[in-house]
Amino acid sequence: MVIVRSALDVAFCKTLISRWELFIKTFIIKELIIRELENQKEETSALNNQDKVNDFVTWCICSEPEYGGRMIKCDNSDCPYGWFHYKCVNVRRKPRGQQFCLNCKT
Ligand SMILES: [Zn+2]
Ligand SMILES: [Zn+2]
Repeated sequence: MVIVRSALDVAFCKTLISRWELFIKTFIIKELIIRELENQKEETSALNNQDKVNDFVTWCICSEPEYGGRMIKCDNSDCPYGWFHYKCVNVRRKPRGQQFCLNCKT
């Protein structure tokens, strides 16, 4: 790669960069901040709704409610537990395919 240096090019680049900076600062960052705020609003309201619904419902072998962590569902529709905390069934990621808990596997 050959880099040609000339005073004219540097000055030209500087004006380009400063114009871009102005553009980015005024339009893009503003847009990003607005979007970020809107996303946060949606996420928190969705979480709040979930919390209210699941407040008194208990799941899992530990008979605890959903407390914000990830949960895995047993695919047996008659499962007495239904949902399990990842940590209670020693699961770290969502497995593929159908999942049955220890109770329903037998
Ligand atoms: Zn549990
Ligand atoms: Zn089950």
